[in-house]
Amino acid sequence: MTFNIVCMSGDGIGPEIIAEAKRVLNKVAEKYGHSITYKNILIGGASIDVYGEPLTDEAIEIAKTSDAVLLGSIGGNAAISPWYRIAPELRPEAGLLKLRKSLNLFANLRSAYLYEELQEACPLRENVISDGFDMVIVRELTGGLYFGERSTKEMNGMITATDTLSYNEKEIRRIAVKGFETAMKRKKKVTSVDKVNVLDSSRLWRKVVEEVAMDYPEVTLEHMIVDNCAMQLIKNPKQFDVILTENMFGDILSDEASMITGSIGMLPSASLNDTKFGVYEPSGGSAPDIAGKGIANPIATILSAAMMLRYSFGLEKESKAVEAAVKQILKEGYRTVDIMPQDKSRCRFLKQVGTEDMGRSITEYI
Ligand code: NAD
Repeated sequence: MTFNIVCMSGDGIGPEIIAEAKRVLNKVAEKYGHSITYKNILIGGASIDVYGEPLTDEAIEIAKTSDAVLLGSIGGNAAISPWYRIAPELRPEAGLLKLRKSLNLFANLRSAYLYEELQEACPLRENVISDGFDMVIVRELTGGLYFGERSTKEMNGMITATDTLSYNEKEIRRIAVKGFETAMKRKKKVTSVDKVNVLDSSRLWRKVVEEVAMDYPEVTLEHMIVDNCAMQLIKNPKQFDVILTENMFGDILSDEASMITGSIGMLPSASLNDTKFGVYEPSGGSAPDIAGKGIANPIATILSAAMMLRYSFGLEKESKAVEAAVKQILKEGYRTVDIMPQDKSRCRFLKQVGTEDMGRSITEYI
């Protein structure tokens, strides 16, 4: 099969980690008889430097004609970067929001999986994680508080800022369907997270999720209030299979979940619409503190490429081959610096490698 991938490397460590994901995809194509073409497009600060805006309309049109987008990361250090001394709608992050909105990417899937080999990097106690955990957070991505009307005005002599959290039935139904469909491919459990005791939008959320659940009798549905979910992720993460939630709750909970896997450099994500198209990217940002040093962990981006093979191209065997190669190199002791244990006595049997060597080692196992 032939696939057209748009690569948006972006800023900071973006180009370094995308190069390794491409290396892996090229090996998959060679081994399994596929053909991949790439088109490079600027996003974030890299696009601001050239076009004065973080994502051009032309870039979006090119992305729309592709089969999938492989995205690195955008942004810089806000304290020193000139990208943050311009209007907010022209800053790097605005490019990401424009991409999500223009391509109608309403569903974000982010997995949090604890590799047996990385248990020592998890900050939770051994008795909590001895059986590991494996969950996917299905987050609504184009509605809610981040896209509602907002204003800052003076009212009665007081500056007042307002953000609006609004969801309609259609927006909730389509993300709920993604949540249940994801659960059907896994352990068939959905935990829907809301704040039903306070918010009207959560009451509608719960009603619609229950309606959608009727179409998936094999899936167990439970509801959880967001503050309790934040605690349960620390107390007993293995209870979760699919966490289904709205935009802001998902933003916060998915970062919490990423921390308990040990490093944000391990976590892939997919942003999907209601076609096979998707944008695949690591969960972390552009990591300006380590950009250019050749030490960034490319695994999240490589696993994002594996998600692309599965969700956009329907290549389950190839996707599993990439995931198996990652597991194998971890087993063999290869580690980037972010996943090296703090306890130096445990490092003796491990091999610390940089971004490129990690990418090459994974590629060799495919
Ligand atoms: P970050 O995720 O870039 O970095 C947080 C910490 O994690 C840093 O110590 C960094 O070195 C480390 N880290 C991240 N990815 C890593 C990897 N692959 N390997 C090893 N270590 C890794 O978050 P931040 O520092 O808060 O943000 C930096 C910039 O990234 C900001 O401009 C922010 O807006 C942007 N950002 C972009 C995205 C995105 O592109 N989707 C997401 C989050 C943040």
